[in-house]
Amino acid sequence: MNLVPRYTQIADNFAIQDQPTSVANPQLLLWNASLAQQFNIDIAATARANVFSGNDKQTIAAVALGYSGHQFGHFSPRLGDGRAHLLGAVADAEQQLWDIQLKGSGATPFSRGGDGRCALGPAIREYVMSEAMHALGIKTTRCLAVVGSGETVYRNPPQPGAIVTRIASSHIRVGSFQYLATQGDTEGLKNLADLAIARHYPDITATGAERYLALLAAVIKNQVELVVSWMRVGFIHGVMNTDNTLISGETLDYGPCAMMNRFDFDTVFSSIDKQGRYAFGNQPNIANWNCARLAESLIPLICDDDDHAVALLTPIINDFAEQFNRQFSAMWASKLGLVAESAVDKELIAALLTLLKEHQLDYTNTFDALTESLIGQARVPEALTQWAVNWRKRTNEQSYKIMRAVNPRVIPRNHVIEKILSEYNDTGSSTLLNDFNTVMANPYADSKLLAAFQLVSEDDKEYRTFCGT
Ligand code: AMP
Ligand code: MG
Repeated sequence: MNLVPRYTQIADNFAIQDQPTSVANPQLLLWNASLAQQFNIDIAATARANVFSGNDKQTIAAVALGYSGHQFGHFSPRLGDGRAHLLGAVADAEQQLWDIQLKGSGATPFSRGGDGRCALGPAIREYVMSEAMHALGIKTTRCLAVVGSGETVYRNPPQPGAIVTRIASSHIRVGSFQYLATQGDTEGLKNLADLAIARHYPDITATGAERYLALLAAVIKNQVELVVSWMRVGFIHGVMNTDNTLISGETLDYGPCAMMNRFDFDTVFSSIDKQGRYAFGNQPNIANWNCARLAESLIPLICDDDDHAVALLTPIINDFAEQFNRQFSAMWASKLGLVAESAVDKELIAALLTLLKEHQLDYTNTFDALTESLIGQARVPEALTQWAVNWRKRTNEQSYKIMRAVNPRVIPRNHVIEKILSEYNDTGSSTLLNDFNTVMANPYADSKLLAAFQLVSEDDKEYRTFCGT
């Protein structure tokens, strides 16, 4: 594994050298062979547990990155990698760099009293959920490995510990910009913005203020696309703080995430999200808000006159809502196979969403049934039969293909994920995960095991998730 440092030139206190803390008895629990192959990571099977627990210190000049963050709207100037070490970046076949990060690898200068560790359950959740999201065609960080530490992490109750290895096109967050802006480090900000542009938005060739205005516009475009793709499959991130928002537009951090089953924009599963700030239907507002925090951080790069900078940034931020509305309407149209745009579509969609909520219909299974109904393979749910008369008039021979491409047959159901986690906690492995991976590998296609993974859990209303600390 040829690891390249990436962030050491940004600013003095941005990437702080720090080594992982070794663990007692590292055991490789999950290994993503296809991802390893994609990045040419050819570490012998016997060496993987040592390398991806952080026990093997020979190959790495690890760092912990600094970042700030608005957490549930409240600003913390110094968060940073409190339980993660960035080993460096690997190049893919096109010479693009990808960060390799260990999470749960011990305390760092950013730990603020935390133990720097990760429990096994959250590590497995991150691996399984991010790979499922990737299979669903949603931009996300990926996972290469989960290594059990052989140690107990003291949570309530105590749990086995683990280290999860994450691969991301970068770990540049909205909070990374906030971190440098808060310190008044304009040079660091410029270095970071230029790195983000070089890696994620190389088409931006403008100079001066235009360059950073274009960066903001590009991030907004990607955030809109990301949130629309989440909503297409019913994903609720659960903790959309600015430190968990990547400039690349990849999904980051799977702590309290969950999938919506019964359709309701107000769905919240996270136990700490009492106000519903990160509810399913509020995700676009929050992504917009987070982009506004990025815009504020970029002010020093725009011009010396703050008011003028704000005047230039504001219309770009204001465009978020319009872009979102356009793409959101297009999303519903594709989920319903509506081909040519028509004035009646808006009403048709609104009527469906009202019925879905009123009858507490399962989001995924309903759209799957509507899709399959077009080829006579499923029935339209009874509560929708009247509505479907008008809908069918708006479909044509292309509709099935359009719908099949965007309506998953299977999603990572909350009760399935919980069962996989408890199997790992009890035995260090999961037979359910093998079947789940087989089905999830092609989430838009039929398969033998499909029906078992389409079942909806009755206790979903009481389901709660927790920040995976
Ligand atoms: P997260 O909820 O994983 O996004 O983490 C939010 C912040 O809390 C980040 O700065 C983390 O590094 C920090 N953090 C979370 N868990 C721990 C832990 N066990 N030890 C130290 N820092 C932590
Ligand atoms: Mg985080």
